[in-house]
Amino acid sequence: MIEFDHVSKIFDSYAAVEDLTLTIPKGAFCALIGSSGSGKSTSLKMINRLIPHTSGTIRVNGEDVTQIPVETLRRRMGYAIQSIGLFPHWTVARNIAAVPALLGWPKQKVDDRVRALLDLLQLDPRFAEKYPHQLSGGQQQRVGVARALAADPEVLLMDEPFGALDPITRDTLQAEMARIHRETGKTIVFVTHDMDEALRLASQIAILDHGRLIQLGTPREILSAPANDFVRDFIGRDDLGLKLLSIETVAQRVHPGETAEGAPIAAEASLRTALSILVARGAERAPVTAADGQPLGALHLDDLVRK
Ligand code: ADP
Ligand code: MG
Repeated sequence: MIEFDHVSKIFDSYAAVEDLTLTIPKGAFCALIGSSGSGKSTSLKMINRLIPHTSGTIRVNGEDVTQIPVETLRRRMGYAIQSIGLFPHWTVARNIAAVPALLGWPKQKVDDRVRALLDLLQLDPRFAEKYPHQLSGGQQQRVGVARALAADPEVLLMDEPFGALDPITRDTLQAEMARIHRETGKTIVFVTHDMDEALRLASQIAILDHGRLIQLGTPREILSAPANDFVRDFIGRDDLGLKLLSIETVAQRVHPGETAEGAPIAAEASLRTALSILVARGAERAPVTAADGQPLGALHLDDLVRK
């Protein structure tokens, strides 16, 4: 658990973060979101003391971070950033193993860990002996995430890690992050300026503006009750309905036992996907099937669009 308790950061006389109070529960995926300069990176870096806060208290599992030796604190937290920061003259394996090596892990344990992480990030085991420049941007970013996870930290801090990637690679890595979060249950604090990314990944979204917390909530809470016009604009006013559809699945709206004509839609598809399928087909209804192909019922266009 990470707690910000009335935390401020003043640079010279400028408040980059002002009176931030926020609790990130253990195992949460918290997205810090806001426009450029809103204080996202500063908030993140205060957690592992890359930036010292000016006032207030930051606690990790109840411990004041200023009372934890900085090396100990950082070892408990993986850190991944957009610019990746891999060492160019080190192999992928050595890059991933940087922290375990520092901790003096025995060689066999380090090798096993590198292999397990390459597997977790779906990187070819043969990449271990390659150098960063021999990999694509997306592969390098995966190595950056693997390195952040190497010493099995309690917390993962990520600062716009996929910001520089093309949309398809970003989409793939977002899916990987969702899976890694599910599989490891780690507490993740994730900075982004992309609302779709936050809605897709986060269990908790904190919206910052000019160093202040404007709204905190689940994706559904933020979409269904934006705190003010700033949040509404940030989500994209015209897009609100579609975004709400994108966080719900077909399973949530299926009419059980009904039948319909046409190719079935998967129950786990988002309602947004289902809407575009129905519109493209010009159909009022479509059959819905479970992952194993069992028919579940039908989906009605009327339930997705307000008349
Ligand atoms: P974000 O990550 O949301 O884009 P930052 O947290 O990096 O924003 O920065 C918040 C504000 O603090 C910005 O106005 C930025 O210019 C200012 N700032 C950040 N770092 C420093 C610094 N080292 N010295 C002075 N001002 C800074
Ligand atoms: Mg930033």
